Amino acid sequence: MSDKDCLFCKIIAGEIPAEKIYENDYVLAFKDIQPASPHHYLIIPKIHKASLQEFVDGDQQVLGELMLAAPKIAQEQGFAEAGYRTVVNTGKDGGQTVFHLHMHLLAGREHQWPPG
Ligand code: 5GP
Ligand code: ZN
Repeated sequence: MSDKDCLFCKIIAGEIPAEKIYENDYVLAFKDIQPASPHHYLIIPKIHKASLQEFVDGDQQVLGELMLAAPKIAQEQGFAEAGYRTVVNTGKDGGQTVFHLHMHLLAGREHQWPPG
């Protein structure tokens, strides 16, 4: 369920500090340490899976909770109306650097498309 060498598992376990902003039985959200936008949060599942590629049929609940956390946080943080960007980087070509699935939630400025 958790990986002792995983940075985000250590945040879930409270072994590494993070500014938590949302939590339920399935997911945790906290501020990104190097924000790319005025609001930049990471939403992660409480189970360890290295990337989206490791999810299978049967994981609908945790993936649904992960996605649903974004509009809840947007409402709580006051940027639901202005809008926001959600991003999941997967593997090397996706630009993933931390190998515990996370969804970026970015807001507070206009975001460009396509991303770099
Ligand atoms: P990725 O490139 O894998 O999609 O995104 C990883 C994100 O994790 C980056 O935006 C990076 O700033 C963030 N990050 C890396 N280490 C830490 C940390 O120790 N604490 C927090 N809160 N965020 C981190
Ligand atoms: Zn992990």
